[in-house]
Amino acid sequence: MRYVIEPPPVATVPVVGGGLFPVRRVYCIGRNYAAHAVEMGGDPNREPPFFFQKNPDDLDPSGRFPYPRRSSNVHHEVELAVALAAGGEDIPVERALACVFGYAVAIDMTRRDLQDEAKKLQRPWEIAKAFARSAPIGELVPASAIGHPSRGAVTLAVDGELRQSGDLAQMIWKVPEIVATLSQYFTLAPGDVILTGTPSGVGPVGRGQVMEAAIEGVGRLRVEVV
Ligand code: MN
Repeated sequence: MRYVIEPPPVATVPVVGGGLFPVRRVYCIGRNYAAHAVEMGGDPNREPPFFFQKNPDDLDPSGRFPYPRRSSNVHHEVELAVALAAGGEDIPVERALACVFGYAVAIDMTRRDLQDEAKKLQRPWEIAKAFARSAPIGELVPASAIGHPSRGAVTLAVDGELRQSGDLAQMIWKVPEIVATLSQYFTLAPGDVILTGTPSGVGPVGRGQVMEAAIEGVGRLRVEVV
């Protein structure tokens, strides 16, 4: 059977050392660092994780972030991205890391004004989170090269001024637990990418500014807001 329209292109993320990682789905975890949970008005304790999604082609490796329409308060959230080479349902915590292909630095860009309104009205978050090019991402580094980072500085600076500074070790839910829990709700599969939450210090950016994100042991990401 032939397609009745041209099939859309596969979203991809470049891999350090060559090749492209094809993206199937993008899952994100909310409030996964205690200090950020508090700054968002939440509970810093280990309440069950909650998830939302972005679209595969929201991942943008171009290094340019077009300031989105319909918002005047767009925030940066630097996050460790986890890319899966295998999936399944009810993945045990102790087998979760074996599903991971690699890691990257990503930024969960958020139309905070629209998110605040959605929260107030108890509406879903898509318009705040899943807009075009809302997840700048750096090159994926295979776990075969760097292992599975569980500690290391997570930082984001805007125009050279440090805004976010945390450590992977501060994650409330660790990568294996995130993969295991997600797989209880969704059938995970190769190509899935998970953004694992952001440390405190989120804040607005504007056109012309430059975001520089880094995760120790993983990489760096420079993004110009245009
Ligand atoms: Mn986030």
